[in-house]
Amino acid sequence: MKVHNFSAGPSILPQPVFQQASQGILDLNGSGLSILEISHRSKAFIEIHEKAKSLAKELLSVPDGHQILFLAGGASSQFFMSALNCLPQNGKAAYLDTGSWSSKAIKEAKRYGQVEVIASSKESGYRHIPKDYIVPNDAVYVHFTSNNTIAGTQYKSFPECSNPLVCDMSSDILSRPVDVSRFGIIYAGAQKNMGPAGVTLVIVREDMLGKVDRDIPSMLDYQVHIKGDSMFNTPPVFPIYVSLLTMQWLKENGGVLAVAKRNEEKASILYEEIDRNGMFIPVVEKSDRSLMNVTFLLKDASHEAAFLNLCKEAGCDGVKGHRSVGGFRASIYNAMPLEGVQALVEVMQKFEEQKG
Ligand SMILES: *Cc1c(COP(=O)(O)O)cnc(C)c1O
Repeated sequence: MKVHNFSAGPSILPQPVFQQASQGILDLNGSGLSILEISHRSKAFIEIHEKAKSLAKELLSVPDGHQILFLAGGASSQFFMSALNCLPQNGKAAYLDTGSWSSKAIKEAKRYGQVEVIASSKESGYRHIPKDYIVPNDAVYVHFTSNNTIAGTQYKSFPECSNPLVCDMSSDILSRPVDVSRFGIIYAGAQKNMGPAGVTLVIVREDMLGKVDRDIPSMLDYQVHIKGDSMFNTPPVFPIYVSLLTMQWLKENGGVLAVAKRNEEKASILYEEIDRNGMFIPVVEKSDRSLMNVTFLLKDASHEAAFLNLCKEAGCDGVKGHRSVGGFRASIYNAMPLEGVQALVEVMQKFEEQKG
């Protein structure tokens, strides 16, 4: 049976990428060696790394002056690395709190300087994106989470201010066009929309750096990684390789603009069904609904196991909601084909016929 993977992360990757990645494990481009055993200083890997960097630059239209890094440690390390590197001890940064990931970023940043939480949607259970807030002029940056993987909200437009933006784009990187020039830092754990777990894409504008005078351990210092071209130590070789394959797939399929259109289409089919179907209610306000993580609840929560059972029978995997929201969450990242979304909609309709 065809299984449709709606998991939030690690998550679906394009089928051809699995095939190519397997081939790379057995014999990388006819070299007789596996991607798992080659040196990160080998010509073969340096080429892969260069291609991954230049493809990320191309797909995201990253301007010159922004450096692209592939680091280990997950997006969670960027919560503190961004502040450690860019927030002076006597400086201030503004943070928007739109869910558990942003609150974790806030908690970590507080170790290094003043953190002003300028808006929070906590009171609504993070079911909307706050829009009324004032960014203090003296904030060295404004940090936000562009897509909130757990609650299922997404910024449709970014904070309007002249301060540099620092953004956790883990769950919607490469899903839509973004004006990177407005960002001081973008970071994204690969395992939502870009590749397997184990590597984090970090895009840093160079003028964000060198402005703090604390002692930064080398491994946590963006400038050290820039100088070492992400090879200060052994980088996550295999996750970088698979991320490259995924970006190549994205390029072959029309790039970010084309995928953004498909993402809109997939999400609107699913939200239309949630709004139409008498059994379900949406979690998030219409204007803030995520195109990546679609959250919904049952009107009668006692049917939850029955619905998940139907999902399972139809090969729809990973639909159970995050424990903090309950209900269901369908993650429909770039690699999720339209057919997957249609399969889930059919399950919802069948469920309505059975129980409605
Ligand atoms: C998954 C996720 C993280 C955590 O990523 P790790 O790579 O596990 O550290 C952070 N932010 C967002 C928005 C996420 O979706």
